[in-house]
Amino acid sequence: MEKVIIHYSEISLKKGNFKYFEKSLARNIKDISEKNNLNLKRISRGEKRIFCEFNSKREKITPVLKYVFGIKYFVFIDEVKKDIDSMNKYVKSILKKENPESIAFKTKRADKSFKLKSLDVNKGFGNIANSLGIKIDLSNPKFIIFSEIVSKSVYFYTSRIEGHGGLTVGTSGRVLCLLSGGIDSVAAAWLMIKRGCRVDFLHFHAFNNNNKLKNSKIVKIVDLLNNYQISSKLYVMPYSTYQLTTSGKFEDKYDVVLFKNYILKVAENFAIKNKYDAIVTGDNLAQVASQTIENLRATSFNISIPLFRPLLTYDKQETIDLLKTIDAFDLSIEKYKDCCSIISKRASTKTKLNYFKKMVEKLDLETLAEKSLEEIRKF
Ligand code: ATP
Ligand code: MG
Repeated sequence: MEKVIIHYSEISLKKGNFKYFEKSLARNIKDISEKNNLNLKRISRGEKRIFCEFNSKREKITPVLKYVFGIKYFVFIDEVKKDIDSMNKYVKSILKKENPESIAFKTKRADKSFKLKSLDVNKGFGNIANSLGIKIDLSNPKFIIFSEIVSKSVYFYTSRIEGHGGLTVGTSGRVLCLLSGGIDSVAAAWLMIKRGCRVDFLHFHAFNNNNKLKNSKIVKIVDLLNNYQISSKLYVMPYSTYQLTTSGKFEDKYDVVLFKNYILKVAENFAIKNKYDAIVTGDNLAQVASQTIENLRATSFNISIPLFRPLLTYDKQETIDLLKTIDAFDLSIEKYKDCCSIISKRASTKTKLNYFKKMVEKLDLETLAEKSLEEIRKF
């Protein structure tokens, strides 16, 4: 049996809604454990911690808990009776077993009624270390023994496993992410899930048939992101609708901005109809020639639903690093038949809004976007 204590970050700062956030975190831990076939025997909340007991191996538990947003860090613990003799005996046994070059003790006293203060507990443990010839080193210890004195017992552990932080999925509303098959929208979706949103996806593909998406990179990306939110919906529609209607009717260099405005308009209509709170894209400011501020303004022309661009200020390297830490980079750069590669390479970099509006009107993108809704399928 493995006992795990879970600490959360921002959730603990919530005042009135604290119980709601804590409950939803516990619910998520349960659901994600179940999805990954962990044997969770017990889960309880209290003293700003979540306590779990698993009948599964540590190596299996660790990656699964890293999927749960809202967790700052977690620890595998030994639970010891809350009296000084038992605590000292435990510390002595660990020190003898590990025999570290140097040691530090870090005690937290959640139960303020415990008769010794944290500092005094540490001092007592320090005396045991000294008696065994182990040096105390507070600045750069080779080994740390942490203890948390809670109401019923004392938890001991020697290392912390960092979670991703963030907020529990489902506590910040539902958003629709435009997923392209490139790397940025994967990172953007992950960041929104991390911020507590439930994320569904809309993808415009360049195939002649939706079924060609089976086993595609897009499906794999959604599966990977679903590790963090259990499940989601993937909506797809062909890019050809836009291409056939607009082709040859404007200067090539405006293709990128027009297509972006069109997909946002489709997404907006779909989002309103299906009660999403916002749309998300992987747009970045000024990273590539088409992402100038003028172009971003043009692409968001006439979009009135909140539009989130969580990668707006990211350096390319920051996005790559993020994807690498979640093992999504290799998948995200796999070759894919993406519609933006069909679109004109020489994009306008400074699209004038007035001129752009005229093109949108001439092509009647509004009506096209409305009609396109009929072609969206749940994959
Ligand atoms: P990405 O790496 O996500 O493709 P990018 O830096 O290549 O982003 P663009 O290709 O210009 O930038 O796309 C910007 C954003 O527009 C994407 O992050 C995505 O949210 C949306 N987008 C682009 N193409 C599609 C598509 N075919 N289907 C759905 N959304 C798309
Ligand atoms: Mg792209």
